[in-house]
Amino acid sequence: MDGSVAIVGAGIGGLTLALSLHARGIPVTVFERTDELREVGAAVALSANGLRPIDELGLLGRLEAVATQPTELIHRSWRTHDRITAFPVGLDGSYRARFKAPYLGVHRAEFQRILSGACPPGMIRLSSEVVSVTTDGTLTLASGETVRASVVVGADGVHSRLRALVDPDARPVYTGTSGFRGIVPVGSLPTLPDPGAIQFWMGPDAHLLHYAIGPGGEHVNFLAVLEGPGTWSAGAGPATADPGTLARAFEGWAPAVREMVAAVPQSAQWPLYTLPPLSRWTAGRVVLLGDAAHTMLPHQGQGANQAIEDAAVLADLLATHDDHAAAFARYERLRRARTRQVQRSSLVTSNLLHLPDGPAAAARDARLAGLDPWLAWIHGTDPRAATRPSAVPV
Ligand code: FAD
Repeated sequence: MDGSVAIVGAGIGGLTLALSLHARGIPVTVFERTDELREVGAAVALSANGLRPIDELGLLGRLEAVATQPTELIHRSWRTHDRITAFPVGLDGSYRARFKAPYLGVHRAEFQRILSGACPPGMIRLSSEVVSVTTDGTLTLASGETVRASVVVGADGVHSRLRALVDPDARPVYTGTSGFRGIVPVGSLPTLPDPGAIQFWMGPDAHLLHYAIGPGGEHVNFLAVLEGPGTWSAGAGPATADPGTLARAFEGWAPAVREMVAAVPQSAQWPLYTLPPLSRWTAGRVVLLGDAAHTMLPHQGQGANQAIEDAAVLADLLATHDDHAAAFARYERLRRARTRQVQRSSLVTSNLLHLPDGPAAAARDARLAGLDPWLAWIHGTDPRAATRPSAVPV
């Protein structure tokens, strides 16, 4: 395509797209409203489908140097330390051998530092809130400055402003579940079995997921998810909960779980959203990417990974199509079905993780033992299979 690309939002999706376009010689500017690149939340788990595009950008080595590959994926029941299932990840190298990239737990700040550090000077404009965009590609910043671009990408997250231009009726829906997050030194968790593993502790109306982060796996990042509260103010972000909310939710759980949630001050409570399918992903010269297009529950660990997939595919298509509208049409066709499937799977998983003890939980546990833990259709899919310049068009 001719001309330049303006990206609104320097999150994981926006930064990956900027680097992917830059690598293909397309001029790009990223507009970010914050005055520095702040971590959103604590850590992130990156799976092979997201890390293959990162590898193609030449950044996997840098990431591996500051990240941890889990030893195993383990499911446990809420009350005991017994394993329900355990599948090797880094322990025998089977994950990487199968999917041609590792599975990594990394501090978000580190990942953003690597992505932004690879951008040439001037590509990211901080303190540049975009207050309006038109479908002809004109952006207006809070400062009053206007910018024209051939393509404008809304990578502006769950509460995207650009989404309203594309689908005015679309709103993220609060799922009735919320999360607390924390990073705990492994040394503060003497009762935790297998601190190097990625583990789900599943129980009635709640679950706790954790994995190790840092170059030596010296910290554990956890996400504790509860049913409720029943409502959340429309569009509102994390809020302070009553002290002790988290500890009360995990009373009676296994010692390692109680120890983990008590090891750090209670975090803000994060409402968890999902976005119903949009009527379209593009309008004129504007296109959506990442959470702006398909906010999903985090239970398949895929929000950031899907944003990376979007970025890799969109960059390929913009680089190989003269007409932005043709590139957008293929992008939407390829990405809509894929991200919808992952969204649905994340919703179903939420319910399965919170079953009370009983026949349904027993059936889930039996099924887990025989399941492909990586859902190969998620981790094994090559997002660029149809869009690499050498690929046959579909
Ligand atoms: P964001 O990262 O939200 O970035 C949007 C950016 O746009 C922000 O920097 C924002 O400041 C900027 N912005 C917004 N509006 C404007 C504006 N008007 N002008 C300029 N800038 C603007 N995903 C995983 O893959 N693995 C995980 O383990 C995982 N864990 C999660 C745990 C929790 C509790 C939650 C809530 C999510 C998790 N996710 C995970 C999902 C993941 O965090 C998101 O899907 C991902 O960060 C989305 O990236 P993005 O680039 O689309 O948006």
